[in-house]
Amino acid sequence: MHTPDAHAAARSFLAQTGLEPTLNRILVLSTVAGSHHPLTAREVYERVLAEHRLNRVTVYRILDLLAENGAVNRINSTERAVRYCARGGRWPNGHSHFHCTQCGEVQCVDNDTLHFDQKALGNALPMRISSVDLRLDGVCSVCSGKAAKSG
Ligand SMILES: [Zn+2]
Ligand SMILES: [Zn+2]
Repeated sequence: MHTPDAHAAARSFLAQTGLEPTLNRILVLSTVAGSHHPLTAREVYERVLAEHRLNRVTVYRILDLLAENGAVNRINSTERAVRYCARGGRWPNGHSHFHCTQCGEVQCVDNDTLHFDQKALGNALPMRISSVDLRLDGVCSVCSGKAAKSG
């Protein structure tokens, strides 16, 4: 997970957000960016811990800092724990979030698959739109699979 490339990407992304790219920040951000779905703070901590001895408070503080500076999204998924995912990088046109109403799973969805016209949106609204993060609610593939089996 912690390849030199992932570290380099995290380092340059931190620089873009104006944060000093300390080793700990690079470790936390590359861990979040390396996941294909949003992680809870605890999951981030456990993944970092698998390779580096960082204490939990440090990891949580860094996540807060990254969220405040726009390096990661902080997602509140109803009654579940807050989750984090990386901004930029993998999705040049931004990304949105799917929430499963049954298990609470949150997944990142490439905005390119949603086919909305950000330019038209910008023209229709008086606000200046810099990014779009739509909330999609429904039933994930795992839960819909279970539902089909049980009846
Ligand atoms: Zn589900
Ligand atoms: Zn996301």
